[in-house]
Amino acid sequence: MQIKKGDKVQVLAGKDKGKEGVVLRALPQKQRVVVEKVNVIKKALRPTQQNPQGGISSIEAPIHVSNVMLVCPECKAATRVSKRFTEDGKKVRVCKKCGKDIDK
Ligand SMILES: [Zn+2]
Repeated sequence: MQIKKGDKVQVLAGKDKGKEGVVLRALPQKQRVVVEKVNVIKKALRPTQQNPQGGISSIEAPIHVSNVMLVCPECKAATRVSKRFTEDGKKVRVCKKCGKDIDK
């Protein structure tokens, strides 16, 4: 997956289209990511011992990775990424807009 935890992304589709947020969790097996304050759903909680009233909490639901685009930390644009190998053999992501490395 091109998107990793801690990346800043822009949402391309859905009710939060246009929003930007930080990736809280990446779920590579499902090709989904959880983005801060994006796709927030209300979840009914069953009463538990810690919370005997039950209630409703807001949590971020995962969205498909194809619905987000990485925001380049260098040029601040939403961009596609390519990959390259550094001299010491590390794979880094490269911004297709400004050509700078995204991974340091
Ligand atoms: Zn860039």
